[in-house]
Amino acid sequence: MHLILLGPPGVGKGTQAQKLKEKFGIVQVSTGDMLRDAVAKGSALGKQAKTFMDRGELVPDEVIVGVVGERLESADMKRGFILDGFPRTVGQAEALKKTNVKIDHVLCFTAPDELVLDRISGRQKQESRQDDDLDTAKKRLGVYHSQTKPLVDYYRQTGLLREIRATAAIDEVFQMTLQAMGEGSVQS
Ligand code: AMP
Repeated sequence: MHLILLGPPGVGKGTQAQKLKEKFGIVQVSTGDMLRDAVAKGSALGKQAKTFMDRGELVPDEVIVGVVGERLESADMKRGFILDGFPRTVGQAEALKKTNVKIDHVLCFTAPDELVLDRISGRQKQESRQDDDLDTAKKRLGVYHSQTKPLVDYYRQTGLLREIRATAAIDEVFQMTLQAMGEGSVQS
């Protein structure tokens, strides 16, 4: 099973990725987590990424494509994976296509901007993520609309897009996700 998760920041991609990971026994690759880890370690990648992340901007394609490309080569990816937060631009999607990995579903989670901003302010209180303050969150949402949303059309054209309204409770959204994947009758 090879999945891509799309959707604005705060829509609940990470939570759904975790549930999909448990259900299908596949690896979750969150580029946001990988970058936060690199920043915490103070590695060269972290130093490169930090300024962009703090501003709520995307790390340049050539940086992230290299990181993900390397990750895709690891042995634990062979059984399947969930890409959470990648690709984020059409350039990244094109780079992924060149790797010839066959994607089964692109799960696109949708919710109104006001709802995701509310969720992000709740998350800031719990996790104190630096890029979750309201101004940066609004910036990230703007970046999503301008740079990532074009991927919805990109993947719709490939026939892989499954859209899921992510406004309901976590378990309900998960059931809708399984249904969208054609796995609807399987209980979690
Ligand atoms: P996330 O946790 O997925 O919201 O990512 C947090 C931040 O990491 C983003 O605002 C970007 O600065 C950076 N980032 C994560 N994934 C990508 C990506 N695929 N391309 C570029 N930047 C990314």
